[in-house]
Amino acid sequence: MILVGLTGGIGSGKTTVSTMLAARGAVIIDADQITRELQAPGTPVLAQIVSAFGVDVVDENGALVRPALAAKVFGDPEALAKLNKIVHPAVGREMAARLEAQRETDNVVVLDIPLLVENPREGLSGTLVVDLPVELAVDRLVAHRGMDRGDAEARIARQASREARVAIADRVIDNSGDVKSLERQVDEAWEWMRQLPPAAADAGRVART
Ligand code: ATP
Repeated sequence: MILVGLTGGIGSGKTTVSTMLAARGAVIIDADQITRELQAPGTPVLAQIVSAFGVDVVDENGALVRPALAAKVFGDPEALAKLNKIVHPAVGREMAARLEAQRETDNVVVLDIPLLVENPREGLSGTLVVDLPVELAVDRLVAHRGMDRGDAEARIARQASREARVAIADRVIDNSGDVKSLERQVDEAWEWMRQLPPAAADAGRVART
């Protein structure tokens, strides 16, 4: 297995890049997607969230109302810690299980982790960072996701800086251009990834700091 860490700030284009890499044959393990799956209606994680934060964090169909949950933990470190204690171990276990299933293969596996700088992984074959100016990420989040500008800026400010992210990169994808330019860079990144050394035996574990 070749194991590549993929990261970037909010709205940088991680999901767009990982979709392009999947089309070229990569196996994607996406932390955000797993988090959503584990919080789907009827899951044990969602049941724990409801018992900790109240029934008003789900709608009449039993689906999580993310803004309602976000409002409960916003600016409240204790509440956020409580939520993380419910969600993080479950996501960690699921990511580890998906990684284990790939370990003996020849696949190129991409770990899509928004907070890779904050939570480094051991033994990666390489790290790919999607980079663009903060203002452009904010513009895209406002234009395509209907996100509030102030909210997008505040979220970005809470994450690692652009410089800190680029500092851990073995390769940077510049997503300040159009989708065509992104496709070209993903083609090159895919060629680069395929010639990386196989990952170490224990690769992908959360690094001890
Ligand atoms: P998040 O951190 O919120 O999960 P992300 O890093 O996964 O975001 P994407 O969802 O891939 O980012 O991209 C953010 C938005 O910008 C999406 O609406 C996407 O379609 C758009 N986008 C990505 N790359 C480009 C580009 N080169 N040109 C125009 N729009 C783009």
